[in-house]
Amino acid sequence: MLTNIHENFFPKQYKVIHIYESTDSYEFWLESTGTENKCPKCERESRRMHGYQQRTARDLPILGKGVTLDITQKKYYCDNKDCEVGIFTEANELIVPYSQFTVRCREYMLRVAAVVSSEAAVKILAYQGIKVSGDTLLNMVRLAGAEYKGKIGAKIGIDDWAYRKGQKYGTLICDLETHKIIDVLEGREGEVIEKWLQAHSGIDTVSRDRANAYSSAVSKALPDAVQIADRFHITQNLLEALKETMRTYMPEIISVSNDEEAEAVKIVPQHSIKKHEND
Ligand SMILES: [Zn+2]
Repeated sequence: MLTNIHENFFPKQYKVIHIYESTDSYEFWLESTGTENKCPKCERESRRMHGYQQRTARDLPILGKGVTLDITQKKYYCDNKDCEVGIFTEANELIVPYSQFTVRCREYMLRVAAVVSSEAAVKILAYQGIKVSGDTLLNMVRLAGAEYKGKIGAKIGIDDWAYRKGQKYGTLICDLETHKIIDVLEGREGEVIEKWLQAHSGIDTVSRDRANAYSSAVSKALPDAVQIADRFHITQNLLEALKETMRTYMPEIISVSNDEEAEAVKIVPQHSIKKHEND
């Protein structure tokens, strides 16, 4: 039964109170049904409620329609006398403080921004019903790199990244196993990436584009690391090699006959053209 499928869209602690639908958006009213929560500082459980807090956040789109959540969260007292937190808002996996997007929406936006320029990402996201300005997305990408506190994996990908197409470039570093942005560097010069690699140990594999600057930076900083050209650039290399081969072996002129009795297509080799020109 798909009747109440929307109940599965949100964490169990929230109940869907209302759904409003317009031609291009859905609005979900969610209310917390939790009865206890842990203090974020001392982690003591509290059941003593203080009141409510309203939050609005944009979520992943549904069938191309934008989704907004109006969330009523509960606030609790922390009764631990040794804890400096008096009142706290319940934690949940859906939203984090101060963000105007849900956690999953933010992650999706970062993934899109990681593969195209910031400007293109804004357009793609808008088609899907996620409205965001270029500056907000840019800050989101920078923040994702700056706030990454996880372990840096042994396999990373580095690529240049345009803030605006053909304009300012930075370098995006991703963990190839988790696909998370782990850092964003200003500029795409070799020294920038070399310095970063020297400051991070344990990397054994680097996927990179064909830029010589990246290649020599990795060779200098991590001489034992395996360097891999990423899939996009391997395809690009292959196409260029094919084009070059075609240029070398294909004749300059391929003549097509109007005579149905004759051979439909006649290839005139380059040497006979030259001979004819000399006659
Ligand atoms: Zn506390």
